[in-house]
Amino acid sequence: MTLSDITAAVAAAAQKAGRDPAGVRLIAVSKVQPLDRVEAVLSQGHRLFGENRVQEAAGKWPDFKARYDGVKLHLIGPLQSNKARQAMELFDAIHSLDRPKLAKALARLAQEDGHCPDLMIQVNTGEEPQKAGVLPGDADAFIAEARAMDLPVKGLMCIPPVDETPALHFALLAKIADRNGLSELSMGMSADFETAIAHGATCVRVGSAIFGERVPG
Ligand SMILES: *Cc1c(COP(=O)(O)O)cnc(C)c1O
Repeated sequence: MTLSDITAAVAAAAQKAGRDPAGVRLIAVSKVQPLDRVEAVLSQGHRLFGENRVQEAAGKWPDFKARYDGVKLHLIGPLQSNKARQAMELFDAIHSLDRPKLAKALARLAQEDGHCPDLMIQVNTGEEPQKAGVLPGDADAFIAEARAMDLPVKGLMCIPPVDETPALHFALLAKIADRNGLSELSMGMSADFETAIAHGATCVRVGSAIFGERVPG
């Protein structure tokens, strides 16, 4: 697969769902990929990328951003509060807001800087103990709490359990977003982005289908 195959598949899935393809953003997940593969996608004109570690992103993106105009970077992995400042400087959106302590750290920094990246709240739809995210039953309260801190909460994000039908998780995330008046849904990866689009995804996070299998680091 190539970038243009995936871009076409995203648009086709949107059309099939009766949606405007412009309403689905493709985040190319470049974590752990060799730099030449990332550069190849940049030179094809793609500008929206996702990384799941602050440190790794800090190592490669300042240089790419200096060389390519209009790059947007989204953090899709867990964020420690002590890396919040660095994350706010590097990323245009953070998809992994998942606890009050992090919300407080971001709110404090946003006040100091007068700016905050767009935020998505991660929901642990499968209620998996090892996975980040607020539990579905706690989501409404946490969304309200983050909004009360004036944080720019735009939507929700989930990573379904690997061994379950993703559609049920996407539908649950869409339902929680809908009842809270949130318009962005970050859901869908290489294996299931078409299903996610059918359930209303506005951002799909696709790595290996664009770049090839990740080469261990
Ligand atoms: C790695 C990663 C992806 C991309 O996964 P692929 O299966 O390679 O498409 C998407 N979302 C998150 C949160 C990830 O960590």
